[in-house]
Amino acid sequence: MRIFDPHIHMSSRTTDDYAAMHAAGVRALVEPAFWLGQPRTSVGSFTDYFDALVGWEPFRASQFGIAHHCTIALNPKEANDPRCVPILDSLPRYLEKDGVVAVGEIGYDSMTAEEDTAFAAQLALAITHELPALVHTPHRDKAAGTERSIAVVRESGIAPERVVLDHLNELTVAMAKESGCWLGFSIYPDTKMDEDRMVAILREYGTERVLVNSAADWGKSDPLKTRRTGDAMLAAGFSSGDVDRVLWRNPVEFYGQSGRLSLDGGPAEAEFAGNSILRGARK
Ligand SMILES: [Zn+2]
Repeated sequence: MRIFDPHIHMSSRTTDDYAAMHAAGVRALVEPAFWLGQPRTSVGSFTDYFDALVGWEPFRASQFGIAHHCTIALNPKEANDPRCVPILDSLPRYLEKDGVVAVGEIGYDSMTAEEDTAFAAQLALAITHELPALVHTPHRDKAAGTERSIAVVRESGIAPERVVLDHLNELTVAMAKESGCWLGFSIYPDTKMDEDRMVAILREYGTERVLVNSAADWGKSDPLKTRRTGDAMLAAGFSSGDVDRVLWRNPVEFYGQSGRLSLDGGPAEAEFAGNSILRGARK
């Protein structure tokens, strides 16, 4: 089973996770820029993080045979912090980099006016830079948040097939499908969506335009949830072709719209100038 995890925060994970993911079939992933848990207090902590997403982390992934790509954005939660908002001015230079395959995660956390502004501004950046957009739907008040996200996407003028609405569930899948956007589902260990519910959604809505991710991060999460979903699909009677579509061909098609997917080692290694020095230092 070949697997492309379209949403996972590897900066928060260990090398054991990389090894286990490779053993489970993961050969490519996308790491969206997001909140670190600890609030950022300056623009500098964003730029250091973004530099790591295009430099250090792809190098780490490449050592385990996994192609690493990322998405860059001011995340919804920190769009409310005046210390963080000025990072919007620095996004264009990151959106030009090879390993960056979308603008994201953008969208709503608490649905404030500040989040509205950052969301619309970053959809405009996606259009300007000809990149897809990864939209995080809020975990609280999900139905209203998803509905409002779809309205903002529509107003922005970005083509819906260049947008994924992520963290969907049974309550939001129908409106998301109706919007023409891609459908993203995050499979968690014991809250929100699980693999059996995912299989039921695939039965009802089909495999077209569906992305399944682990969304693993610094919280309780499981980087092998993509594989577990593939196994659950097979056990439920889906073909290996269906599994390949959901876990590989769909994410390749969606992020391939950036024109920057590199599935044989990635642009990563060249990008990180410190590689050889660090490699030497570790030996
Ligand atoms: Zn995330």
